[in-house]
Amino acid sequence: MLIVTKQISLSIGHRLLNYEGPCKNIHGHNIKLEFVFSPKLYGPNPKDGFVVDFGKIKKELGEWADETFDHAMIINPYDKDLIDFLTDKSKCFIMPDEGSIGLSNPTMENMVVLFYKKALKFAERNHIKLHSIRLYESDTAWVDKINEID
Ligand SMILES: [Zn+2]
Repeated sequence: MLIVTKQISLSIGHRLLNYEGPCKNIHGHNIKLEFVFSPKLYGPNPKDGFVVDFGKIKKELGEWADETFDHAMIINPYDKDLIDFLTDKSKCFIMPDEGSIGLSNPTMENMVVLFYKKALKFAERNHIKLHSIRLYESDTAWVDKINEID
Protein backbone atom coordinates (compact mmCIF):
# COMPACT_ATOMS: atom_id res chain seq x y z
CA MET A 1 0.00 0.00 0.00
CA LEU A 2 1.20 3.53 -0.77
CA ILE A 3 1.06 6.23 1.82
CA VAL A 4 2.09 9.84 1.24
CA THR A 5 3.07 12.35 3.89
CA LYS A 6 3.18 16.13 3.74
CA GLN A 7 4.82 18.01 6.57
CA ILE A 8 4.15 21.61 7.52
CA SER A 9 5.58 23.78 10.28
CA LEU A 10 3.80 26.32 12.44
CA SER A 11 4.73 28.58 15.32
CA ILE A 12 2.04 28.79 17.98
CA GLY A 13 1.57 30.18 21.45
CA HIS A 14 -0.57 28.70 24.20
CA ARG A 15 -1.05 28.07 27.88
CA LEU A 16 -2.92 25.29 29.63
CA LEU A 17 -5.51 25.84 32.36
CA ASN A 18 -5.82 23.61 35.45
CA TYR A 19 -2.38 22.23 34.78
CA GLU A 20 0.72 22.18 36.98
CA GLY A 21 3.71 22.20 34.68
CA PRO A 22 5.63 24.58 32.41
CA CYS A 23 2.74 24.77 29.93
CA LYS A 24 0.62 26.64 32.51
CA ASN A 25 2.63 29.73 31.49
CA ILE A 26 2.17 31.62 28.24
CA HIS A 27 4.84 30.29 25.87
CA GLY A 28 5.36 29.08 22.33
CA HIS A 29 6.19 25.97 20.33
CA ASN A 30 7.45 25.42 16.82
CA ILE A 31 5.17 22.55 15.94
CA LYS A 32 5.22 20.26 12.92
CA LEU A 33 2.25 18.57 11.40
CA GLU A 34 2.27 15.54 9.15
CA PHE A 35 -0.74 14.78 7.00
CA VAL A 36 -0.66 11.14 5.91
CA PHE A 37 -2.93 9.87 3.12
CA SER A 38 -3.39 6.62 1.24
CA PRO A 39 -5.56 5.46 -1.66
CA LYS A 40 -9.09 4.39 -0.72
CA LEU A 41 -8.59 0.86 -1.91
CA TYR A 42 -5.67 -1.50 -1.89
CA GLY A 43 -4.41 -2.19 -5.37
CA PRO A 44 -2.18 -0.84 -8.11
CA ASN A 45 -0.92 2.72 -8.12
CA PRO A 46 -3.48 5.32 -9.15
CA LYS A 47 -3.65 5.88 -12.92
CA ASP A 48 -2.32 9.44 -12.78
CA GLY A 49 0.62 8.31 -10.67
CA PHE A 50 -0.45 10.25 -7.59
CA VAL A 51 -2.22 9.32 -4.39
CA VAL A 52 -2.66 13.07 -3.98
CA ASP A 53 -0.50 15.88 -5.25
CA PHE A 54 1.72 17.28 -2.49
CA GLY A 55 1.05 20.75 -3.88
CA LYS A 56 -2.66 20.26 -3.34
CA ILE A 57 -2.13 19.31 0.31
CA LYS A 58 0.11 22.34 0.77
CA LYS A 59 -2.36 24.66 -0.95
CA GLU A 60 -5.53 23.48 0.79
CA LEU A 61 -4.43 22.22 4.20
CA GLY A 62 -1.14 24.09 4.55
CA GLU A 63 -2.58 27.48 3.70
CA TRP A 64 -5.55 26.93 6.00
CA ALA A 65 -3.27 25.89 8.85
CA ASP A 66 -1.00 28.88 8.20
CA GLU A 67 -3.82 31.41 8.12
CA THR A 68 -5.58 29.93 11.14
CA PHE A 69 -2.77 28.92 13.50
CA ASP A 70 0.65 30.23 12.47
CA HIS A 71 1.94 32.83 14.94
CA ALA A 72 -1.42 32.71 16.71
CA MET A 73 -2.18 32.29 20.39
CA ILE A 74 -4.28 29.16 20.79
CA ILE A 75 -6.66 29.84 23.67
CA ASN A 76 -8.92 27.71 25.84
CA PRO A 77 -12.47 29.17 25.59
CA TYR A 78 -12.59 29.12 29.43
CA ASP A 79 -9.49 31.38 29.59
CA LYS A 80 -11.50 34.62 29.89
CA ASP A 81 -8.54 36.70 31.09
CA LEU A 82 -6.46 35.86 28.03
CA ILE A 83 -9.43 36.25 25.66
CA ASP A 84 -10.27 39.70 27.09
CA PHE A 85 -6.66 40.83 26.99
CA LEU A 86 -5.51 39.45 23.67
CA THR A 87 -8.20 38.84 21.08
CA ASP A 88 -8.34 42.42 19.76
CA LYS A 89 -4.56 42.86 19.91
CA SER A 90 -3.09 39.74 18.37
CA LYS A 91 -3.85 36.77 16.15
CA CYS A 92 -5.75 34.22 18.23
CA PHE A 93 -7.56 30.95 17.76
CA ILE A 94 -10.07 30.01 20.43
CA MET A 95 -10.40 26.27 20.84
CA PRO A 96 -13.90 24.77 20.50
CA ASP A 97 -15.75 24.48 23.81
CA GLU A 98 -15.86 20.75 24.40
CA GLY A 99 -17.73 21.06 27.70
CA SER A 100 -14.80 21.08 30.12
CA ILE A 101 -11.58 22.99 30.67
CA GLY A 102 -9.48 19.89 30.02
CA LEU A 103 -11.16 18.91 26.79
CA SER A 104 -10.95 22.52 25.56
CA ASN A 105 -7.30 23.11 26.54
CA PRO A 106 -4.91 23.72 23.63
CA THR A 107 -2.96 20.52 24.27
CA MET A 108 -1.38 18.75 21.33
CA GLU A 109 -3.93 15.96 21.84
CA ASN A 110 -6.87 18.36 21.55
CA MET A 111 -5.30 20.32 18.71
CA VAL A 112 -4.57 17.26 16.59
CA VAL A 113 -8.32 16.62 16.48
CA LEU A 114 -8.84 19.98 14.73
CA PHE A 115 -6.30 19.10 12.05
CA TYR A 116 -7.75 15.63 11.74
CA LYS A 117 -11.30 16.89 11.10
CA LYS A 118 -10.08 19.28 8.40
CA ALA A 119 -7.90 16.61 6.77
CA LEU A 120 -10.79 14.15 6.80
CA LYS A 121 -12.89 16.55 4.70
CA PHE A 122 -9.94 17.08 2.34
CA ALA A 123 -9.60 13.32 1.94
CA GLU A 124 -13.30 12.88 1.20
CA ARG A 125 -13.23 15.63 -1.45
CA ASN A 126 -10.20 14.03 -3.10
CA HIS A 127 -11.47 10.44 -2.89
CA ILE A 128 -8.54 9.26 -0.79
CA LYS A 129 -8.21 7.93 2.73
CA LEU A 130 -6.85 9.91 5.66
CA HIS A 131 -4.38 7.49 7.20
CA SER A 132 -3.27 9.61 10.17
CA ILE A 133 -2.15 12.97 11.44
CA ARG A 134 1.02 13.41 13.45
CA LEU A 135 1.53 16.57 15.48
CA TYR A 136 5.03 17.20 16.84
CA GLU A 137 5.27 19.40 19.89
CA SER A 138 9.06 19.05 19.62
CA ASP A 139 11.56 16.78 17.91
CA THR A 140 11.15 14.24 20.71
CA ALA A 141 7.44 14.45 21.55
CA TRP A 142 4.44 13.98 19.26
CA VAL A 143 0.84 12.83 19.10
CA ASP A 144 -0.68 10.62 16.40
CA LYS A 145 -4.35 10.44 15.52
CA ILE A 146 -4.96 7.37 13.45
CA ASN A 147 -8.00 6.86 11.24
CA GLU A 148 -9.35 3.53 12.44
CA ILE A 149 -12.31 3.52 10.08
CA ASP A 150 -11.67 1.84 6.77
ZN1 LIG B 1 3.34 24.10 25.63
